[in-house]
Formats: sequence, C-alpha cells, structure tokens
Amino acid sequence: MKYDVIIIGAGAAGLYCAKHLPQNLKVLILCKEQPWECNTFYAQGGITIAKNKEDINLHIKDTLDAGSNVNNKKAVEMLSTSSIEIFNELLNEGFAVDKNEKGEITFAKEGGHSISRIIHSNGDGTGRMLHTHLINNLKHTLWKNANVVDLLIEENRVYGVCVSTKKGLLNIYANNVVIASGGVGGLFKYHTNAYTISSDMHGILLEHNLNLRDMEMLQFHPTVFVETNHARKQLVSEAVRGDGGIIIDSNNKRFLFDYDKRGELAPRDIVSRGIFDYCKKNNKKAFIDLSIFSKAGFENRFPNIYRQLSSYGLDIPNDKIPISPAFHYSMGGIECDLNARVNGVENLYAIGECANNGVHGANRLASNSLLEGLVFGKIAAKNIIESSIITKERHFPLNNEILQKDGDMRLKNVLRDIMWNKVGIVRTKSGLDSALGGIEVMLLGDIGRMLKLRLLVAKKIITSALNRKESLGAHYFIDEKK
Ligand SMILES: Cc1cc2nc3c(=O)[nH]c(=O)nc-3n(C[C@H](O)[C@H](O)[C@H](O)COP(=O)(O)OP(=O)(O)OC[C@H]3O[C@@H](n4cnc5c(N)ncnc54)[C@H](O)[C@@H]3O)c2cc1C
Repeated sequence: MKYDVIIIGAGAAGLYCAKHLPQNLKVLILCKEQPWECNTFYAQGGITIAKNKEDINLHIKDTLDAGSNVNNKKAVEMLSTSSIEIFNELLNEGFAVDKNEKGEITFAKEGGHSISRIIHSNGDGTGRMLHTHLINNLKHTLWKNANVVDLLIEENRVYGVCVSTKKGLLNIYANNVVIASGGVGGLFKYHTNAYTISSDMHGILLEHNLNLRDMEMLQFHPTVFVETNHARKQLVSEAVRGDGGIIIDSNNKRFLFDYDKRGELAPRDIVSRGIFDYCKKNNKKAFIDLSIFSKAGFENRFPNIYRQLSSYGLDIPNDKIPISPAFHYSMGGIECDLNARVNGVENLYAIGECANNGVHGANRLASNSLLEGLVFGKIAAKNIIESSIITKERHFPLNNEILQKDGDMRLKNVLRDIMWNKVGIVRTKSGLDSALGGIEVMLLGDIGRMLKLRLLVAKKIITSALNRKESLGAHYFIDEKK
C-alpha cells in the first residue's frame, strides 16, 4: 500500500491540508476513533480574521502581545495576512457564519483582542460547523479507528506509518507524511480536550530524536466547569466573558480587577492565575455570573454551552456556574519551519496544534488556533505539491511493541495527577523535580507503548519547564529561594 500523502489527524489542520491536495494525488487521512472526536469539533468561540487590510497590523500586535513578543514574527505576519484569503475561501464554499438581522457578519471579541474580529458559526458551535463543512467537502479517503503507533523514518526521510486498526497492525507507505494530530490534553487531570488527544505523535517524534520546541508553554483556560466525571471538562467560552459574563467569588466580589485592569478580559494566563491564586489564598470558589443575559439571549448566542450546562442540572442564566482553570492548548509542539516541514526530515510535515512554528510565542491569542490550522494546512499542501519527492521502495518490520499493559490505566491517572499538581498553572523547581522523578520511575516499569509515549512527552515538558527559570507567558515559575 503506497500513497502520495498520508495525513495523521482529521481536525481542521488535517482536513484543510487534504482539501488543498488535488484528486490526482493518492491521499489517505487517518484518525483515531470517530473523525469528530477532535478538538476542532469542540471549538466554541470562533475563528480570528483580520477584519480588513488595516486590521492586519493590529492583529499582529495583539498576537505578539499575547505571546510575550517571543513569537516568530514572520509566522504571525503569514497568519494574519492569510486570514482574509482563508475567510473568503470559506465564505465562497458556503460556510455559514453568523450574521445580524441586517445580514451583516457579526464579529466577537475575546481576551487580548483590541477589537471584535472573531467570526463564529451557529453561536458557539463554530468548531462543529467547521468540521462538518470540511468533512462534507472531503474528496480523499479517510480511515477512522486508525491509531498511528510509529513513523517509518530512516536517515532524514519518512517512508510511511505503522498503524493499529481493528484488523491489527500494518505499515502503510507514502511519499509524504503530514502530522496533524493535535495537542497534549490527555496528560492532565483537568482538561478541555477531546479524548483522542493524548500526545502519542509527539512521543514518537522524541523516540526518533526529533525535537519538540517550547513544550513548557501550555495554556490553561480560566473558565471550565470541572464538576463532572467525564475526562473532558466543559469549557465556558471566553466569548461568554466577551459578551458580558463576569467572574465573581461566593460573595459576588469581582476579584480579577485586583490582578489586571482588564479584569475578565485580560489574556488567559493572567485570568487563570488570578482565579487560581485568589481561590487558593482565600479558600474560596470562583463562579461565572451570567445574569447579564436573558435565558433566550444566552441560549441563542451559546446554544451548545447552554445545552451542556443545563444537562448537568444548572439553571442558566440564573445559577452561578462554579468554574476552575483547566489545561486547554499547547503552544509548544513539533519543531517545524514556516513551510510546515519538520526540522530534520525532508518529507515530513507538522500542522495545527501539534506543530510549533513559533506563531503563538509564549501564549496563544484567543481563537488564533483554528486559523493557524487552516493557514498552515494549506501551506503544507502547497509545499507537498511543489516538492516532487518519491520515496524509494522500502519495507520496514512492524513495530510489535505491546500497546497497552495491565497496570497502564492506573499509571496514566498517576501521570495526570502529577502533571496537574506539579506542572500546571504555577510551577516551582521542587515541584518540577519531584514530577520528573515520578515520571522516570514509571518509565522504568513494565508499561505499554502508548503510556511510554505519553511519559516521554511529559518528561520533555518538565525538562523544558526546568530549563526556563523565569516566568514568561504561559510558563509561570515561582523561585522558592527568593
Ligand atoms: C473546548 C475547546 C474549545 C476551543 N475553542 C477554540 C476557538 O473557539 N477558536 C480557536 O481558534 N481554537 C479553539 N480551540 C483550540 C482549537 O480547537 C484546536 O487548537 C484546533 O482545533 C486543533 O486542530 P488540529 O487539526 O490541529 O487538531 P484536532 O482538531 O485536535 O485533531 C487532531 C486529530 O488527530 C488525530 N490523532 C491524534 N493522534 C493520532 C494518532 N496517534 N493516530 C491517528 N490519529 C491521531 C485525532 O483523532 C484527531 O482526528 C478550542 C479547543 C477546545 C478543546
């Protein structure tokens, strides 16, 4: 079995890359479980679009400000400049964006944005609408329940993937491989991510001595309803705060102004740390107060959040929603260049949340990530079309390592606890050292391949955090000696 292109992942990045690959190429998209079980599907707020040419510079500035100015500026320029073209493409294909009664597109505002420039679809259903749109327009083959467990790499070329399917393991060969496997949510006890998002592709890259960059830069979303038993916790979108939702304590105190003059609309890391610090110091809970909305108004603007929170027995908008920060997004990822090529392997690409081309710097501006997946998915497709790499016939042995072993589930939960408690919103050297020790012990045990891959990524996150001794962006470090 040989393809021109294999794409690992069926979220926004993978599907948009596939969309830009012509039908005369033999393209195969692989994803775990069902295609909709990805972060793209759950995205709520929307997609950032520079409103016009004049807004490009301001969008670039907002992105750099959120990223503490350590972003790759060229990547940010590409992101913002391309947003207008991507938007027009989506509109021309019939993607339905929300409009007001006058038929004008409605733009939302989120934390860190100077103006309202976020388009949305079906209220808070943007991710679901975008994913459905891309799946409906897909013209290449997609295999679901196909879990990639290894890359077939020799010297500086990739020859294909080893994939676990319901029928067993098999190697599939390709001239180009694109990784679009999303972030690292499954490493944390509290997270907002789809359950397919568990960082295994990141681990595979490490095994092949390829680099992950900025892995200490992990974003924690401030407003997540965590009081459920599901692994994926319910996000209450930033757009809810953008539209007037406020954060209070049990005495109705709007405490976030003690931390930043922008209050609820400060960038995410500031809001997350504010909530974390205030609740810890004062032994209090935080809530989001939706009383500014009417019931119909909230249901109309945020139908999915309304439905989800109501299903947990909450009376919206009358009840105050208990919230906590939770892991949300990884700025760090597979080191690649602005053509989406993975550094060190000439026909391997990385796009979307799994990739690190420097666009987000030390923190991501809200709603820049769907846009990133679309922009760099298209760029990867263009580069694949222009490069004419044909890999020679090679046959690799199957990677027969046992994927799961008996004690793995328990250790996976230990790992999640460690990551949440010691490698989370506030980090210290002693906490990181003890986390590293725990991971190293687990790595020595009799564990399955999938857990090993997660542990390798966790170890990389911790060593990256230990190497950055001062706070920057999403990495908040307290020096215990001071
Ligand atoms: C609740 C929530 C709300 C969000 N809201 C917004 C928003 O409003 N705006 C915004 O811009 N961003 C938002 N984000 C972030 C954004 O959704 C993601 O960053 C983006 O969708 C990632 O797209 P992706 O294509 O890179 O990965 P994903 O959409 O996560 O897709 C990853 C794909 O890779 C597959 N995969 C993973 N590992 C393997 C493997 N080993 N083998 C085979 N397949 C594999 C998965 O099955 C999946 O198909 C939100 C995220 C969450 C979780």
